[in-house]
Amino acid sequence: MRTEIAKPQGVSNMPHDLPVTATPPAPRLPDIMAICRAAGADDVAFVELNRPRLAAQRDGILRAIPWAKGFMVFARRLNRHALRSPMRSISSAEFTSGGHDVKEIIHKTVRDLEDAGVRSLGISGLFPFEFSRSDGPPFVVPLKILAEEAGLGRMGKNRMVLHPRFGADLYLGAIALDVSPQDEEAGRPLSESPCIDCNMCAVACPTGAIAKDGHFDFGSCMTHNYREKVGGFVEWVHTLADSKNRHDYRRRVSDTETLSWWQSLGYEANTHCDYCVAVCPAGDEAVSFLADRKPHFRDVVGPLRERAETVFVVPGSDAEAHVAATYPHKKIRHIGSGRSPASIANLMAMLPLVFQRGRSQGIAARYHFRFHGKETMEATVDIRDQRISVSPGLEGKADLVVRADSEAWLGFLRHERKLPWELLRGRIRLRGSPARLKEFGRCFPG
Ligand code: SF4
Ligand code: SF4
Repeated sequence: MRTEIAKPQGVSNMPHDLPVTATPPAPRLPDIMAICRAAGADDVAFVELNRPRLAAQRDGILRAIPWAKGFMVFARRLNRHALRSPMRSISSAEFTSGGHDVKEIIHKTVRDLEDAGVRSLGISGLFPFEFSRSDGPPFVVPLKILAEEAGLGRMGKNRMVLHPRFGADLYLGAIALDVSPQDEEAGRPLSESPCIDCNMCAVACPTGAIAKDGHFDFGSCMTHNYREKVGGFVEWVHTLADSKNRHDYRRRVSDTETLSWWQSLGYEANTHCDYCVAVCPAGDEAVSFLADRKPHFRDVVGPLRERAETVFVVPGSDAEAHVAATYPHKKIRHIGSGRSPASIANLMAMLPLVFQRGRSQGIAARYHFRFHGKETMEATVDIRDQRISVSPGLEGKADLVVRADSEAWLGFLRHERKLPWELLRGRIRLRGSPARLKEFGRCFPG
């Protein structure tokens, strides 16, 4: 709002003079959140950037948004019954619409805030991402952590932020603000999780990525659910490039799959799964679910479990074993992981996410990695009791020491360089039994 005030004496009356205006006071946080709600957000909360839990990400966030003091985080509710349809075209359309809503809310809120004199900038948490980043994850802010810290929800067993009312049926967005909150204006983490530990997500997950004991196999989920996004796209392009001709391509990729790619590229990326969102009864449905689980299982979980579909897995992965044992009516489709770490730092961050604990059975070993060349890093990887830990520096006594030129090692992982040749040239050296390296590779197929 612009307020006209009387012109001070002695000020020229030249025709090109602009009207003198008084700047209205900047809106307070409750007013800012009301603007976001008016733009379509279903729930809104604020979190300051100086929270201890954001310490690891703070420098990266400030490099991208130097003036940010905090984030207004919001939830946009998705239509539950569409997400639950066994026809994934229906759920994909709902996810797509929700994504558009989030971007629209951000766009409108930021424009209104700019008019009100508040510096702000929106981050949808949806594509596009920063894929060229080699020093960290490809997103600008850790949206799930922001949402938890703001008190919008807590992460459930399915790794989704569960809202106390909307459960998993939501999309998140965030708006960076150059505003400090007054006392009590910032949100606080929820004291109780909306996750009711019902295990419906684990029961419905076709790849076994969600285990009832809380373990999450990020790699298997990415391979299947993200088949037509991120890593899956890279793998498909490699398949295209490797195909000798049309017949060879059709031997590798069915026409149905090619049409699905066309939909994803021409329209918006299809979701292949998201069953863990569809079946989650957290939120305002939890009470009726707990009173009688049968209708939910009959109408929602059962149809997704029974669905005849293709499940994308990396050969030799835990997901492959899970589909074969649990879903004999689903078709296993082998694909490459499409993983191609851009740096050693990236690789080390990725290891715990793609670790296959089923494949690691019987392994108890400590590995020292010493990288030199373009990237210098020392790290210890410990695998035992079907768990992995990755720590910086060299800890304890190693069963295998790998000294490698960073580019040679990344090239070997990308299948661009042969290990025997790199060993011969001395660009990769091993101290310890090579069988240990084979065991290590077993835990990270693809
Ligand atoms: S389905 Fe059940 S266990 Fe899984 S996240 Fe939702 S409430 Fe938690
Ligand atoms: S998206 Fe699908 S594969 Fe991934 S965790 Fe959820 S149910 Fe499992």
